[in-house]
Order: sequence, then C-alpha cells, then structure tokens
Amino acid sequence: MTVYLDHNATSPLRSQTREAMVRAYDAGGNPSSVHGPGRAARAIVETARAAIAKHFVTRAEDVVFTSGGTEANNLVIASARAAGAKRLIISAIEHDAVRDAATASGIQVEILPVTPDGVADIVWLENRLTGWDRDADGTPFVALMAANNETGVVQPVEAAGRLVREAEGLFHVDAVQMAGKIAFDFAGSLAHYAALSAHKCGGPQGVGALLLACDAPLSRQMHGGGQETGRRSGTENVAGIAGFAAALEAVEADDAARMAALRDALQLRLESLEGVRIWGAGADRLPNTLCLSAEGWAAEIQVIAMDLAGFAISAGSACSSGKVKKSRVLEAMGASEAQAASAIRISFGWTSTQDDLDRFADAWIREYARIRPRLAATG
Ligand code: PLP
Repeated sequence: MTVYLDHNATSPLRSQTREAMVRAYDAGGNPSSVHGPGRAARAIVETARAAIAKHFVTRAEDVVFTSGGTEANNLVIASARAAGAKRLIISAIEHDAVRDAATASGIQVEILPVTPDGVADIVWLENRLTGWDRDADGTPFVALMAANNETGVVQPVEAAGRLVREAEGLFHVDAVQMAGKIAFDFAGSLAHYAALSAHKCGGPQGVGALLLACDAPLSRQMHGGGQETGRRSGTENVAGIAGFAAALEAVEADDAARMAALRDALQLRLESLEGVRIWGAGADRLPNTLCLSAEGWAAEIQVIAMDLAGFAISAGSACSSGKVKKSRVLEAMGASEAQAASAIRISFGWTSTQDDLDRFADAWIREYARIRPRLAATG
C-alpha cells in the first residue's frame, strides 16, 4: 500500500470526520426549513460553527461557511475595492487563490518580499505603510498567509497585523495550511479576515470557512437565499460542515510535537547529502512539512520515482491541472532555476508513522545515489 506523504495537498479523512458526516447525512433536512428535520440540520450547522469558532478563538457569528479555502480567499479579495482599496499588498509566497484573485480584481498589486528563509519582510511592510498616501493609495489592504503550503514556513502575521491596524488598513490571513496543524488564534492574529479549508486537516474536501472580524467589510458575491446571514447564499454543506468541526476536534494536543520529531529525523538523514538543500530550515516551520531540492533531479521525475517505489509526495508546487510548475515560492526565496525545478515537498500528518518516514528516506536516498552519477555527467 502506498505511503501517503502529501497531507498539505489533502489530509485523508479521519474516522471521526466520516462518522460525523454520516450522522449529518442521516439527519437529512435543509437547515433553512422550519420543520423538525430542518431544525435538526440547523442544529448540526450551528453546533459545528460554535466549535470551529472556539477552535480559532473567535465568535460563532464571525464564521461564514464556504466551499473551501479558494472561495474564502476570493471573497476577501473581491471585497477590497468596495472597502476603499486602490492597491493590494500581497506576499510573494501567497497561494494562487490569493494571487490570481488579486490580479483578477483589476486593483494594482504590490508584492511583499520574503527573506531567503521564506519569511515575509516585516521591515519592508513597515516602511511601505509608513509612506502610504491614503488619498492616492486608498485603504491599505494586506494579505499574508499564516504558513506556506510548499515550505511550511510560518509567517509573522501578528507583527504584520499590528502594522496594518496602526495604518488603519485591512488585513487578510490565508490560514488554510496552519489550521489544524498548529494553533491559529484569529483574535491574536489581528486579522480582519482568515481563510480556512477542512481537507487540509482530515476534514472533507469542498468545505471551508471565512473568519471575519466584526469591523471587516464584506461584499456579497453569492446572491440567493440569504444563508450565512446574507453573506454567502446557498444551502449549507451540512455534512461537510459537521465533518470539518469533527476533524478539528480530533486534532490531538501532541500531534505537533510528534510531527516535528518525524520532520527533524527525516531532515537529519537528508540534509547532509551532496546537492540537497532544505528550504526554510532556519525559520519556524509547520511541523509536518519538509521541502527540499536535489539539484539536477527534476521534481516531476522524483515524484514518479517515489510513486513507483510506493510513496506519494508532491513536487514543490502541486497544482490542480496535474502539471508541475516551477515554484514561485522558492524563486522568491532566491532559489536558482535549477533548485526551484528540483524541489519536492514531503508533508505528513495524522496517518504517518516513524516507519513510513524511515522507509521513505531509505527509498529516496537509494534512488538519489543511483541517479546522481548520471545527473553529474549530464549537468
Ligand atoms: N490556500 C492555501 C495556502 C492552500 O494550500 C490551498 C490548497 O492547497 C488553498 C488556499 C485552497 O484551498 P481549497 O483547496 O480548500 O480551495
């Protein structure tokens, strides 16, 4: 059986999630209906909303359910113009759900650079906001993800949030990768908005949420039945929402420590090999993520070789079309083209064991040793 090491793409469904979803499907009913089955569905949604709000340190009324992280990010960016933004500052390492939405908004986009370790440059942000011309530039609108999907590097969201609040701007955090892996405190982040997705922490695909601070403006994009207090029309995904809450509840307190121990042991075996570079090694990272490049060994070839050996990993930047694009994130960190083209991501989670990672390291090192003389000869 394949050893699954691609939890940042999707973390497999937890049994608690499946059970909660089956219970919700069995309850039936539309949460907007006033009869008994409708009220039962409404109770499931509101119980989940309260649990999710508690998990992220916010109020239940500030949770808007969406179809996932992409929609939550798009909802925020689509609100920027009406909120008075004439320029968007987004970090160089944002997911396409933020970056492409920003480009599509037609608003001028500025890129917040990152250090070679992949951490957003807070001094740059401070200087930029100090020189902000509110008349010309409108309301400052800044997007910085909580943790990067490729490298796992954790971002200084609280520091950024403080700067944006001081500049009387609006601050968005894509917390999709951090949620359920390490604690994300929405109130403490000082963000106005945060995007979440259930399937990155053992919940179902196709459901997520937008967290909104009470002073955060939101432009309605979905018009219809007025669900989610008019902020996102459409019948709620009752089973998905129940599964999302159950997945978060199933996150064990010691998960992060166990993941960090697995990551560190794996890194130790790989980092000293010639031609290998670990990305973000000097920064605070998600405990479950290891991103490395093996110069000259194309990422897609590595992914195929490991797949044949029974391990599911991803190229540095996995994308929905199945094609592997060169990693923008690593380029922003100063990677050469060759390094960016040879980066892979190993991301593990609640299904992973020490034995999985030991066997992966054995297989990868064996294959690298086999292919390396040829890489050296052609490179
Ligand atoms: N944001 C980040 C950082 C992600 O890693 C992803 C998914 O890979 C998304 C947003 C999109 O989330 P979803 O798949 O729920 O649309």
